[in-house]
Amino acid sequence: MLTHVVSVSGGKDSTATLLLALELYGPEHVRAVFADTGNEHETTLEYALDYLPRVTGKAVDLVRADFSGEFAHKRANLERIAAGEPESAVYGRRQFMYHWTPEAARCALELLHPTGNPYLDLCLVRGGFPSRKRQYCTQYLKTEPLTEYALEIIEGGSDVWSWQGVRIDESESRRVRHQGTGACVKSFEVVGGGLFIYRPILRWNVGSVFEAHSVAGVSPNPLYTQGMSRVGCMPCINCSKAELRAIADRFPEHIERIAEWERLVSSVTRPRSPVSFFHMGTQGHSGQASTIAHVVDWSRTTRGGRQRDLLAQLEEPSACSSAYGLCE
Ligand code: SF4
Repeated sequence: MLTHVVSVSGGKDSTATLLLALELYGPEHVRAVFADTGNEHETTLEYALDYLPRVTGKAVDLVRADFSGEFAHKRANLERIAAGEPESAVYGRRQFMYHWTPEAARCALELLHPTGNPYLDLCLVRGGFPSRKRQYCTQYLKTEPLTEYALEIIEGGSDVWSWQGVRIDESESRRVRHQGTGACVKSFEVVGGGLFIYRPILRWNVGSVFEAHSVAGVSPNPLYTQGMSRVGCMPCINCSKAELRAIADRFPEHIERIAEWERLVSSVTRPRSPVSFFHMGTQGHSGQASTIAHVVDWSRTTRGGRQRDLLAQLEEPSACSSAYGLCE
């Protein structure tokens, strides 16, 4: 028996991949699954979990990472520090730049509880946010829950083709790195143990992706018509200056949510340890304070960050600014 599992993110590429799988194999042989990071825009959740099942007739399963074990472990360590044990006895010979005090550990214990939001819980147990260099969010919030989902199907007696909506054309760097070099991302891989990876749209361009939507009578995620060039996390730690400015202009409540997360994560980490959603060096944002409020402020400046872009301030945020020309 073979099951085709499509990881749906609410974005255009994974939707096109789902449509292709349904077209080729039929709904009875396809499973669709969405990994909820807890940092998506509500429109993306609605699109993936409500709209897509309605128009395709295919239910989309939901998976969420759970960090309750990590919370218990971190709390046990902090309880020892709060009781007066030296940090070296708790963490062994590992060296840290900042240090716990018993008082700080007691305060952290009051706030350090699972929230049920996977992204925030991951940051609370790690004592900080992921970064471009340490992009562990993808691994913990998506790869691991989706792999567990596939393994459960395999344990039930079926091989799994895991369909991934990856395209070489998606980014200039990926194109330069991979196209024609022989070091390509493979379109098919045997992982072993009954698991296979299939990337059917690897060489599609963005036009073909939207055409697949149109042929199937399925609308793309509405966020594409609201200035978003990608619709995953809101924001993603890898987002560009322009994307961040668009998010801040259109969805300031998501910026405020991240600011609140920064405050909460700061309260459960080593005193004075800098905690911010973006890290120094993110997207050229080097050498400046990097709380989300500072980075949003910087995103509204012209090159160099000194002068505010007055024209940008005058842009009408409700105007259609799709990066894909969907509404011309
Ligand atoms: S979309 Fe960005 S922030 Fe979200 S899990 Fe992926 S890399 Fe991390």
